[in-house]
Amino acid sequence: MSTTNPTPTASPNPAATTQTPTRPRPEPRPVEELKALAEAGARELAGDPAGGVPEANPADVIRWVSRNFDTAACAVACSMADAALPHYVAQYQPGVDVLFLDTGYHFRETYDTRNEVARRVDVHIVDVLPEQTVGEQDAEFGKDLFARDPGLCCARRKVAPLKKSLNGYELWFTGVRRDEAPTRTNTPLITFDEKNGLVKVNPLAAWTFDDLLDYSRAFDVPVNPLLSQGYPSIGCQPCTRPVAEGEDPRAGRWAGSTKTECGLHT
Ligand code: SF4
Repeated sequence: MSTTNPTPTASPNPAATTQTPTRPRPEPRPVEELKALAEAGARELAGDPAGGVPEANPADVIRWVSRNFDTAACAVACSMADAALPHYVAQYQPGVDVLFLDTGYHFRETYDTRNEVARRVDVHIVDVLPEQTVGEQDAEFGKDLFARDPGLCCARRKVAPLKKSLNGYELWFTGVRRDEAPTRTNTPLITFDEKNGLVKVNPLAAWTFDDLLDYSRAFDVPVNPLLSQGYPSIGCQPCTRPVAEGEDPRAGRWAGSTKTECGLHT
């Protein structure tokens, strides 16, 4: 794995616009009903590894979602590190909404990947924008908030916009994998996301980084070129550095600080 420097940029994506979902969404079912569904799904898909019944694979998980949820009620979160999850979900839920958190601080390669996914995968990209542009945030909080208080920066540019954009959906898919970090080792396939008030599904939880690359190659799925340039985990440009071979894949995120998660999955 090389550690070639990418093309850094803090420019917002010229193609990005705030979009609304293309199809009308059904009124979300009551929280208690969604919780019961999440618990039932978790039981059904967990298998019984000790008894020889394996945990469900990603296709089984997404099929379970398709049986129980309208496509319009589902959203896929995607960082544009790769498009394996949107591609996989779109096989069963074509045209599904894909939420891209456009923080204004992404690498040029990430915006290029977003545009490639919009062209080649049967999904509807929803660019989720923070309330403030980078310039407006600088004016209120001072330049480079990420360097002084990354927790506040992530809260304003990722966590709050995601929470707002998830409002009205019943379920969101994420690409979180157990092998990404010690904080993600116990990631379930399905859970109820109390913080955002909807079902959370992690179909690729059991995948390794190599599984992700194998799937992307097999189905010619867009992949962020930084993944093969020493960036196994890609976030905002100011807060992401390449990692060395064998290093923790997320060691390049907020390097030099105690922060390990942006708050979307904690
Ligand atoms: S990853 Fe860095 S730049 Fe991006 S929102 Fe968080 S602190 Fe801000």
